[in-house]
Order: sequence, then structure tokens, then C-alpha cells
Amino acid sequence: MQLQCSYCNKMFVVSKEAGLAGMYEIYHEGKNHFNAVCEHCQRTTRVSDEQMKQNFPNWEAEYEAMLKEADAFAKKQAELEKQLAERKEKPKKEKKKRNRKR
Ligand SMILES: [Zn+2]
Repeated sequence: MQLQCSYCNKMFVVSKEAGLAGMYEIYHEGKNHFNAVCEHCQRTTRVSDEQMKQNFPNWEAEYEAMLKEADAFAKKQAELEKQLAERKEKPKKEKKKRNRKR
């Protein structure tokens, strides 16, 4: 979503992730706006819930897809860490052998 900063008047982009998180807050925490942080001046521009709805009409489906992606990523990460941990155990044994030979 592209926005114009109300302070420096420059255009900046609000990421899909930030926008969807904003929509979640509007719906589940009763907020009536989303605070977008300008990437140029770091100030907060208010986006009304109406404007947010126009930008993210399918936010619920997209939010769920985003959560699923995050979940899949976490699982992948856990698997990689497990593999790394297993790999770390093997070299230790080799080291011991080398020490014995000396
Ligand atoms: Zn700005």
C-alpha cells in the first residue's frame, strides 16, 4: 500500500505484513485507524479504518495465508536447527579420535 506522509509529503510504502497486522488490530482491538510510519521522516501517519479496508479488502484470507507461511517457515527453521545440532555432534567424535592418535 502506498501512502503520502502527512508531514514531509513524500510517498512511502506500507508493507503487506504491516498493513495486515494493522487490519487485525482494527478488527480485534477496536482501533479506528492504523499508524503507518514514514520511511523518510519516521513520523506516524494515521490511516483511517475505511482507507485500510479499501486497501486490504481480503485481509482476513491474506492474514491467514501470512500466518500459515510464518508457521511453515518456523517448522523449516526448527528442522534446519535440528539437522545442524545433529551435524555438530559428529565432528566431536572425530576430534576425539585425532586426539587419541597424538
Ligand atoms: Zn514523512
